[in-house]
Amino acid sequence: MQSGCWLGFLIGMDIKTQVASDKPHLTKLRYTICVKIRAMRAEFFEGVIVSTAVLSKGRVLLLNGSNWEPLAVISVPRAINLILSEKAVVIEQSGHFLQTIRDKFPVPSVIALRTFINVPRRQAHWSRKGVLVRDNYTCIYCGVQPGSMLKGKLLNKHDFTVDHILPKSRNGKDTWSNTACACYTCNHKKGDKLPNEIGMKLRWEPKMPRTSYLVIAIGTGPDAWKRYIEIHRD
Ligand SMILES: [Zn+2]
Repeated sequence: MQSGCWLGFLIGMDIKTQVASDKPHLTKLRYTICVKIRAMRAEFFEGVIVSTAVLSKGRVLLLNGSNWEPLAVISVPRAINLILSEKAVVIEQSGHFLQTIRDKFPVPSVIALRTFINVPRRQAHWSRKGVLVRDNYTCIYCGVQPGSMLKGKLLNKHDFTVDHILPKSRNGKDTWSNTACACYTCNHKKGDKLPNEIGMKLRWEPKMPRTSYLVIAIGTGPDAWKRYIEIHRD
């Protein structure tokens, strides 16, 4: 059987289990079918010849249905399982393939649930790394980024610091609204002053990131994820 048919067969089996769930006297049959599906899925992964790095290190961004808000970063096997059970659809491919004996199965990079689930908005836990990621390593005062030249030096991520708008020495807190990414030059220049005391202006108003808990967990993530984890600064 070609793998395409084979995958379709698995999906068909799932639909049958849905039908069976409405009829109590078919519970045993439903259980049997579910066990078979699980066994076949296990067989699918066992029978696959893959770069183990794809399976063990591969990560897939899971989006909510409808609004495509990022929900979690999941493993490749879990993502494929969600697709096979028709609970999610592929939004972006990773460019990697799981090579089965007969065919190739594309590994997703971003998938979305078919239905919207209500997830309470989580409070973002503040961290230095989170501030840098939220601000995309862009200096809030002069706008330089990694790759920019500053005083003859090519900047990289290590040249960026977390600045406290109201300095810690003046009781400024570690909060999302009081901290922002700043290049070392601007941070040094600002010292323990407030921006307006030294004629420096904020290019945006620092705020709690919309999906911070996830963005911080995944750092910058693959390029394919960027458009789904954009942070709203305004
Ligand atoms: Zn700067």
